[in-house]
Amino acid sequence: MDLCERDARCLWHPYSAWGADLPLFGVRRAEGVRLYLEDGRELIDGMASWWCVIHGYNHPVLNAAIEHQLRDMAHVMFGGLTHEPAVALAERLVAITPDGLDVVFFADSGSVAIEAAMKMAIQYQVARGEPQRRRFLTPRGGYHGDTLHAMSVCDPVTGMHGLFREVLPQQLFVERPEPAFGQACEARNLAALEAAFAEHAGELAGVILEPIVQGAGGMRFYSTDWLRAVRALCDRHDVPLIADEIATGFGRSGRLFACEHAGVTPDILALGKALTGGYMTLAALLTTPKIAGTIAGGEPGLFMHGPTFMANPLACAVARASIDLLLDSPWQMRVDAIEDALRRGLAPCADLPHVAEVRVLGAIGVVELTEPVDMKTVQPRFVEHGVWVRPFGRLVYLMPPFVIDREDLARLCGAVVEVVGELAVRGGRCVPCNASI
Ligand SMILES: *Cc1c(COP(=O)(O)O)cnc(C)c1O
Repeated sequence: MDLCERDARCLWHPYSAWGADLPLFGVRRAEGVRLYLEDGRELIDGMASWWCVIHGYNHPVLNAAIEHQLRDMAHVMFGGLTHEPAVALAERLVAITPDGLDVVFFADSGSVAIEAAMKMAIQYQVARGEPQRRRFLTPRGGYHGDTLHAMSVCDPVTGMHGLFREVLPQQLFVERPEPAFGQACEARNLAALEAAFAEHAGELAGVILEPIVQGAGGMRFYSTDWLRAVRALCDRHDVPLIADEIATGFGRSGRLFACEHAGVTPDILALGKALTGGYMTLAALLTTPKIAGTIAGGEPGLFMHGPTFMANPLACAVARASIDLLLDSPWQMRVDAIEDALRRGLAPCADLPHVAEVRVLGAIGVVELTEPVDMKTVQPRFVEHGVWVRPFGRLVYLMPPFVIDREDLARLCGAVVEVVGELAVRGGRCVPCNASI
């Protein structure tokens, strides 16, 4: 039995049906921007394994960081103990994030970090004598993870809230942030936001959003004015702002952190994904002494969260190495060059009848189709073109490792233009013209 057959008998994949006959590809090895498949084919990676692998796979510096740490200890509990990798990473994070975010809480995945951020906001409100402030305001089109409270602030439609209606807390949604990145907000873009604050500020534990780039909820880039307006409203109504930079952190949007596009500092910042360069699962929250101190001064005085693998030394060591590697590299130039190449490379898609929009920001390129992609027929087409591109819904998108060279990036864009170019809408889906359905 081959690997994929064995897999199909006993495994679930992300957002998939067990037993569904969907294409699956075994990976034997990965290096740089290439995935080497079990069947001998090699693919140029356009996904950075969902935002994470900014330095490419199997990087000697990151390998060495893990190996070095492994000689001392792979893990030790964080209750009552501390270690150099955790302290050094926390110091780095405080130094590189916007001023004022001086206190770090480590979690083991993005979703867990979001749970912890929401608990942090609620505990802050309780500690300052505002226990009725329990809800969160968030724009539609967001994505914050798959656990239940994180789900409650995901877009209600793509987050499938209907399915979980009885168990999800009811949060307060405002319309998607408008207008697009690079455009100025007009009064009408902010009216609903202002009205929501005016009516509900007294119930709000916090506002949670993805700054500038909405990721898995729709891959949209929005106006810096909108983010600044939220910051001003949060200040006026004394509501903490949680910025989820789990996807955008570490340069992906063209700034080290997407908040910097708008010059906004959140009260709680969530980081994950590229934090370890894609080596291990780790997430971090940064917050202000005001929030951490208020929680410490309230009842019970403790922040009620503490994952078993909190501040895992291997993860912290590789994260620190990844940050140093990034900051010592010409990352800004690389991301700018990727942005240019994506703009030019994906532009031909814009003229196709089944393409709604092509948009690019930083090292993120998006081709939005008019109908959802038929994954069963389309996914193998990308592999046949020698690239790893994993569309979802109506979105075909690229977010390659920052180290990708000009030639590989041109091949990646070329493959997207070819595969998207041969799609046609049939039965409400985008399928290859020559597919038999
Ligand atoms: C991926 C993601 C999460 C969830 O992180 P996991 O590590 O998958 O739990 C949360 N927020 C954003 C913006 C993300 O992109």
